[in-house]
Order: sequence, then C-alpha cells, then structure tokens
Amino acid sequence: MNIIVLFGPPGSGKGTQAKILAEKYNLEHISTGDLFRYNIKNNTKLGQEAQTYINHGKLVPDELTTEMLIDELKRNSNKKGFILDGYPRTKSQAEALDELLDSIFQTQVDVTLALYVEDEILVKRILKRSEESGRSDDADESIIRNRIKEYYEKTAVVSNYYKEQHKLVELDGEGSIEDITAELSKEIEKFV
Ligand code: AMP
Repeated sequence: MNIIVLFGPPGSGKGTQAKILAEKYNLEHISTGDLFRYNIKNNTKLGQEAQTYINHGKLVPDELTTEMLIDELKRNSNKKGFILDGYPRTKSQAEALDELLDSIFQTQVDVTLALYVEDEILVKRILKRSEESGRSDDADESIIRNRIKEYYEKTAVVSNYYKEQHKLVELDGEGSIEDITAELSKEIEKFV
C-alpha cells in the first residue's frame, strides 16, 4: 500500500495535483477539505461542527478531523494506496496519522511532497478559483489571509516532522500544472 502526502499552503495546487496523480497511479484521493464540504452540504452533525471554523479560515479541531479521516481510510481499505490532500495540517495530526496507518494497515507514509508558492500568488490564485469553486472561504480576501496565517502558525511545522524522518521532498509550486505533475510523478515513481 502506498501513502503519499501532498503538502503546502492553501492555493498551492495540492487538490489539482492530487486529482491528476490519483488517477494516474490508481490511488484513492482523500481531501479532508472535500470531506468537510460534503458533510456541510449534507448538513451532518460533523458538517455543523466544522462549519464555523471553515467559514473563518480556521483549522477544524484535530480530533474531529482525524475521526473523519479514520472513517474514510477504513471505508477504502481495499485500495492500493492513498494520496492525502490537506491532512496532516498540525504536528499532532502527523503523529496521529503515523499511529493510525500502523494500526489499521501496518504501513507508513512513503513520502511527503511539499509545494511552495509565494503568499501573494496564493491569494490571487484562490480569488480566481472562487469564481468557479463557489466556496465562501475562497471568495473573501480576509478569510484567505487567515487560512494562510493558520498555515504558517500551525501547519508549516509539519514539514519539519517529515524532514526529520527523511521523507520530505520540497518542490516549486509556481510552474505550469503539467510541469509540476511531471516533477511530482518522478518522486511518486520511486515508491509505486
Ligand atoms: P482545503 O479544502 O484543504 O483548503 O480545506 C478547507 C478548510 O477545511 C480548511 O481551511 C480548514 O478549515 C478545514 N480543514 C481541511 N483539512 C483540515 C485538517 N487536516 N485539519 C483541520 N482543518 C482542516
């Protein structure tokens, strides 16, 4: 089983690349953001609990997020592997992921591929995306900046966690979609 983590700030292209790569390598794409949006749309208890955080550009508490991820991993336990997009986003999520991959699948993260993009480009990209995504957290610049702030305050440290394990590969996320897919593919092919 392969476990590939796509890492980076909001708007760095994780979602776009995860979709392409999941199809290319026959892996299951798990986006915690998409799972939350699905729950909000269907007005589930989880959706109601997560909504306020998401609307303010804050991270949803670790426990809620990790419970949701565990359910999704178990539901897909017959799959060849996973591309995780948007999880882990805190050090404690990264630790939880290690434990649950070990206990559910007796496996571990193969590699964390980090995409870096300059902040002002992130803001522009997300505002542009809002024209199609319909996401309220994409349409408001102050919420976007909050999401970027959350990334630096809580998420950026996750890269150190994987760096210490020699599992971090850092890539420039500012090129064309095709070029970045090619760079990411080179790294994934070391494992699949
Ligand atoms: P995304 O679609 O990845 O940009 O996520 C949208 C929003 O969902 C984020 O701004 C957070 O509020 C929430 N979210 C998604 N993944 C996580 C996570 N791993 N931990 C906490 N909150 C998350």
